[in-house]
Amino acid sequence: MAPPPTKTPKLTASHSAQTQLVSAGRDPKWTRGLVNTPVMRASTITFDTYADLRAGVKTALDTNTPFYGRMGTPSQWALRDTLTELEHGDGTHLFPSGVAAIAHTLLALLDSGDHILIPDSVYEPVRGIAVKMLKRFNISFDYYDPMSVADAAARINSNTRLIFAETPGSLTFEVQDIPALAKLAGEKGAFLVVDNTWATPLYLNPLDLGADVSIHAGTKYLCGHSDVMVGTATAKGRAWDLLSRASFTAGQTISADDAFLTLRGIRTLDVRLRQHGAQALHIAKWLEAHPAVARVLHPALKSCPGHDIWQRDFKGSTGLFSVILKGGTEPDCAAMVDHLEHFKMGFSWGGYESLILPADPTSIRTATKWQAEGPLLRVHIGLENIDDLMADLDAGLARYTAAISA
Ligand SMILES: *Cc1c(COP(=O)(O)O)cnc(C)c1O
Repeated sequence: MAPPPTKTPKLTASHSAQTQLVSAGRDPKWTRGLVNTPVMRASTITFDTYADLRAGVKTALDTNTPFYGRMGTPSQWALRDTLTELEHGDGTHLFPSGVAAIAHTLLALLDSGDHILIPDSVYEPVRGIAVKMLKRFNISFDYYDPMSVADAAARINSNTRLIFAETPGSLTFEVQDIPALAKLAGEKGAFLVVDNTWATPLYLNPLDLGADVSIHAGTKYLCGHSDVMVGTATAKGRAWDLLSRASFTAGQTISADDAFLTLRGIRTLDVRLRQHGAQALHIAKWLEAHPAVARVLHPALKSCPGHDIWQRDFKGSTGLFSVILKGGTEPDCAAMVDHLEHFKMGFSWGGYESLILPADPTSIRTATKWQAEGPLLRVHIGLENIDDLMADLDAGLARYTAAISA
């Protein structure tokens, strides 16, 4: 069965992304003049006559007419269209989480006997997908140095069918050379799949740089309010054919309510990211000069691996980065993080609130060796007042320094 196409006419290139954030997916056929496409919850959609039912089966999907809940209603279609437009793809599918989007994309594009390459800086649960799922289907994998396209090239086999990338990398923020990886994948007839969660479609469009699929944990900035789990995969060409078919076959969908909330979040993505990005960069620069800090891993800072690539390919930076402290160990961080007022500890990020997370990449690495002067803290800079956030971090770093010199 063909998937419902994403039908809204593409805006011309002269439409700026900010305007797309506001206008994309608002098909008058669905909104009937309401500003927002309503939440349309459905499993069954009824037909009055046998002829309507038959016609529905034949044409519903091509005309974006509701047919059966699993194929979506305008609530999901508006979100799909918006992402397709923002990421310049042929279509978008929705998944119940970012991890589900990654797992399903890999299963949709790969066959038994294939081999894939995964960056050593990958979001850790992707290693779980490889070990616990791909391996069972006889799909082999190798990790590569995220900063070395030559290393990726050296690990390519005759059966390499897909290169996975994540830019910048989780926890350690290596910015990957997507055009060079796309060239490498292209030469081998392999797909390039990019996890674009950090940059959002506003600051990076991997499909324009040669990738086949761009994935988002919409859980983060797209939703932006820490209350939805959602994943998206936008693809083009052959990758979209395979992904859309497999996604419908496997029954992948999200609730109308979650689609509505995610699209509501997207409408304000630009203003939120400007504030997250500006505050984070200011705090990153301040931390860089702080006596308790050894290094700051923020793509917009020179010291970040791949900073020059960030400068070449990205349109901005967001609110998430890491700090490496001087001396001490991860447990010493407790003195700092236990008493923070505004930075709470928790997984995920991308909501309006500040977060902090001590993490040790050492045990995660397999292709490269993690070397650092001290423990790593990942911070998400929220929308609180910047002076409040800096005072909180400053007091925390003083507690850390006192703890390691005690
Ligand atoms: C959070 C995250 C994911 C997973 O998203 P979930 O919605 O939590 O499953 C994937 N990739 C990156 C880079 C992430 O930060």
